[in-house]
Amino acid sequence: MHKKAKKLKVLFASSEVYPFAKSGGLADVAYALPKALSKKFEINVILPLYASIDIDKYHIKPVKLSFSIQMGGTTYDILLYKCRYKGIIYLFVQSELISEKEYFYGPPDQGYADNAVRFALFCRAIIKVLKEDSSYTILHCNDWQTALAPLLVKEDLSLHIKTVFTIHNLAYQGIFDRDTLDEIGLSPSYFHSEALEYYGAINLMKAGIVYADSITTVSSEYAKEIQTQVFGCGLEGLLVYHRTKLHGILNGIDTEFFDPQSDPLISHHYTPSDLDGKKSDKKAFLKYSGLKGAQKPLFVFIGRFTRQKGISLLIEILEQTASLEINIAILGEGEIRYRTQLEQIVSLNSHIHLFFGYDEETSHRLYAAGDFLLMPSFFEPCGLTQMIAMRYGTVPIVHNVGGLKQTVHSYKIFDPGAKHGFGITYSEQKPEVLLDALLKAVKLYKTPFLETLNLHNMRSDFSWTKSVEAYTALYHNLEQL
Ligand code: ADP
Repeated sequence: MHKKAKKLKVLFASSEVYPFAKSGGLADVAYALPKALSKKFEINVILPLYASIDIDKYHIKPVKLSFSIQMGGTTYDILLYKCRYKGIIYLFVQSELISEKEYFYGPPDQGYADNAVRFALFCRAIIKVLKEDSSYTILHCNDWQTALAPLLVKEDLSLHIKTVFTIHNLAYQGIFDRDTLDEIGLSPSYFHSEALEYYGAINLMKAGIVYADSITTVSSEYAKEIQTQVFGCGLEGLLVYHRTKLHGILNGIDTEFFDPQSDPLISHHYTPSDLDGKKSDKKAFLKYSGLKGAQKPLFVFIGRFTRQKGISLLIEILEQTASLEINIAILGEGEIRYRTQLEQIVSLNSHIHLFFGYDEETSHRLYAAGDFLLMPSFFEPCGLTQMIAMRYGTVPIVHNVGGLKQTVHSYKIFDPGAKHGFGITYSEQKPEVLLDALLKAVKLYKTPFLETLNLHNMRSDFSWTKSVEAYTALYHNLEQL
C-alpha cells in the first residue's frame, strides 16, 4: 500500500485577513488564497491580533506559547492566539503595541509613528513560530508589514525555510527614519543601498525584495509595470535587478463568497439564466438610498479614497453628470479631503449618494444593484473590485492599467469564446476621457448587448484555480532548492 505523500507545510503571513481584519483587497486575498491552496498544502495563516478583532465571535483562544522578544534594548511580551475558521488554522500575534491601538495602521491619513516596531515585532513573532514548529517548509509573506521576515529567516542559520514575498501594492513601502534600524534590532550593516537603505531612510519593502527566495506580484502586467519608472515607486531599479525571481500571478476572487446566487448579504439572488433578482436588488437599493429612477443606469464606485483609485478624477466629472439621466452611488473611506469634496457635491446633486465608511454588506448590495462599476484607478496591481463586479453582472469601466488591463477587455472587441471579462476601457487618465467612457456606458445601457456582456462576465472564470497552479509550481520549485 502506498503511504500518502505528506503535504508541504506553509505559513502564510499577512497584516490583514478577511473576516478578522480587512481594509482592502489584501484581506480578501489572504483569506481566499490560503483557502484555495489548502487542498494541496497544509497551510496556516498568521496575522496581528488587533483590538477590533472579535475573539469571542471567532472562538480565538490563547495558545500555550507565550514568549518575549528582545529588540533594540526593549523587551516585548507576546501571546499567541489561535482559531480554526472554515477549515484553516489562524494564528494571531498579540502584543501591547499591536493590540492596544484602535486602527490597524493608524487613523485616516496617518500611520502610527511606531509602525516599524509594531510590524517588526510581528515578523519576529513569525520567526518564533517557525522555530517552534520545524515542520514548516515555506513562509509566504505579503507587503511591507511582513517584509522583514525573509531577512530574519536568512539571518537565522537554524531555519531551513524558503520564503516567498508577494507585493500587493508597491506604493506602500514602510519607509522610516534611519534610527529605526536600531529600534527594530537590526545591525547597522543593513544600512546600504543593496539592503534596506533608501534615500537616507530605511525601507522595509526592500527587505522582502532583497532577501526573499521568490517574489510574486498580483498580475503579470503589474510585474512588468513595476520595473518602470512610472510605476516602480522608486524601486524599479531594484526590481529589475531581482527580476529573475519576480513572477506575476494573477489574483482570483472567492467565487463561493462572491456569488449572487447565494450571497447572504443581498436581498434577491440571481444567476446568469435568470437576472430578475438583480433588477429587484437595484430597486431595493434605490429605495434604501433615496435615489430615484430604476430605469436610469446606476453607476457605483467602491474603494479607498486615495489618489490610486482615481477618486479625484471622478470628483472632477461628478457635477457634469447632473444633466445625464443616471444615478451614482459611492462607497468608500480614506482621505478626509476627498470626503469633504464629495459631501459638498452630494449635497447639491440628488442623483449621487455617498456612503462614507467601510461596510461589507453595502458593498455587496452595490455590486448586485449596479449597472456599471467605475474604477478609474491611476494604477492597479490587480484589483478585485472589477472581478467581483463582473461576477455580479455589473459592467466595469476601467483605466487600462495593471490588473485591470489583464482582466477587463474592451467590449468593442467582444468575443463570446473568450475566457476573460469585458467592459469599458480607456487609456488616458483625463476627466474628459473618463466622462466619455461614462457616456459610452449610457449608450450601452440602452442596448440588448449589455445583457450579452453581463451574461458572459458572470460565467467567466475569476476563481483561484490558475493562481493555485502557479503557486503550487512555485512552492515545489522552492522546496527543491
Ligand atoms: P485595494 O486592495 O487596492 O483596496 P481591491 O480592488 O484589490 O482594492 O480590493 C478592494 C476590496 O475591498 C474589495 O473586496 C472591495 O469590495 C472592498 N472594499 C473597498 N472599499 C470598501 C468599503 N468602503 N466598504 C466595503 N468594502 C470595501
